[in-house]
Amino acid sequence: MTNHNTAIPTTTAPKNRDVLISGASVAGPVLAYWLRRHGFRPVVVERAPALRDGGYAVDFRGEAHLSVLRRMGVLDALEAVRTGTGSMSYVNAAGKPQATLPADLFAGDLEILRGDLARVLYDATKDDAEYVFGDSVASLTEDPDGVTVTFERGAPRRFGLVIGADGLHSHTRRLAFGPEERFVKHLGVYCAIFTTANHLGLDHTGHAYRTAGRLVAMYSSRHNAEAKAVFYFGSPALGLDRKDVPRQQAVLTEQFAGTGWQSDRLLDDMRHAPDFYFDSVAQVRMDSWTRGRVALVGDAACCPSSLSGMGSGLALVGAYVLAGELAAADGDHTVAFARYEAEMRAYAEGCRKMGDGVARLMVPDSRLTASFLNRYYKIMPYLPGKNMAAKIARRTAENITLRDYAA
Ligand SMILES: Cc1cc2nc3c(=O)[nH]c(=O)nc-3n(C[C@H](O)[C@H](O)[C@H](O)COP(=O)(O)OP(=O)(O)OC[C@H]3O[C@@H](n4cnc5c(N)ncnc54)[C@H](O)[C@@H]3O)c2cc1C
Repeated sequence: MTNHNTAIPTTTAPKNRDVLISGASVAGPVLAYWLRRHGFRPVVVERAPALRDGGYAVDFRGEAHLSVLRRMGVLDALEAVRTGTGSMSYVNAAGKPQATLPADLFAGDLEILRGDLARVLYDATKDDAEYVFGDSVASLTEDPDGVTVTFERGAPRRFGLVIGADGLHSHTRRLAFGPEERFVKHLGVYCAIFTTANHLGLDHTGHAYRTAGRLVAMYSSRHNAEAKAVFYFGSPALGLDRKDVPRQQAVLTEQFAGTGWQSDRLLDDMRHAPDFYFDSVAQVRMDSWTRGRVALVGDAACCPSSLSGMGSGLALVGAYVLAGELAAADGDHTVAFARYEAEMRAYAEGCRKMGDGVARLMVPDSRLTASFLNRYYKIMPYLPGKNMAAKIARRTAENITLRDYAA
């Protein structure tokens, strides 16, 4: 059963009822759902002109993730758009599979395109929370009774609390806590992803080709109707302008042209791709996620890196706990914010550790290590610890006991 177009049941009428949330992807709509349910009045402002529905596959694993989605009534809607992607093969330069890794490692219990996820979460909240697209917070001025917020386009408004759910490069974090360089740690790898034709005819699967310092992959999506092209390469921080797509594409071309397998074909496809994502693989590390009447959630607070496979689940659980603690403290942020951090710290730390080592393993910088890994993957299915990585990921994702705040 889903909550689409069904009013979210509400409970109390707490303090600080009016809450501004910046960002409408994963953490933002989940927070809006639970705040509404606990009797708050959330307003979500999203910089993009409409819901951003492009993107890559993300996954949820374990009972903590699934139980939040179930309690929101969106699990069936998500199951209906799951990717159904199976195992992933490492191939040689000729495209011949050399080793196959199990689906559990990549797809968890529920793999879904990030855009489809955002759509389902938005549909579950749009009738009960106010959404403002195409705008962004310009300034925050806090006083003892609330926060005056000015916007780039809309008129100023007053809120009791402001929550940044605006991702790795959070604007709210910059405004309330300081420059990004203080909190975002580049893990030595860049990632690019775009949509392309499924010209390899992949059937709910992916192929990856690894050389020293580089990995290029393709996986089918939308039930094989299209594919995602994925590139990872090792590099120190390049200081690229995040809006300068031509420069980013030039860097990718310099890195991958002539490197074998499908690289050149995919670089050609890139020039006509309907979407293009390029970013540093990075983590957010902060001593505190809250300051005065402002709090951060999801990637904005504690991004464990896109390679950890934990970011969406962490955003989901963080939003659930933050809303729940605000409800439990009857809207008193001085109590709720401290409890939110206490509940979430160890969990977020575990997710961050998952991201730590993966970057180097994904694109080892020497030819020797790359070739060792390719060989290791070949024999891995026959080793006793073959499911170890998936088990560790599951244990990490389940390492929290969630209170039933609505009850
Ligand atoms: C390539 C890649 C692969 C990934 N794979 C996985 C995976 O397998 N499993 C997994 O769990 N996670 C994965 N992730 C991570 C996952 O996508 C994120 O952790 C998750 O989306 C975080 O959600 P969020 O809502 O905190 O932030 P985001 O999804 O980043 O959303 C932030 C939102 O804020 C908006 N915004 C930005 N600035 C402003 C502003 N100034 N004003 C208003 N709105 C603003 C943005 O437009 C966006 O809608 C992956 C990420 C990437 C990049």
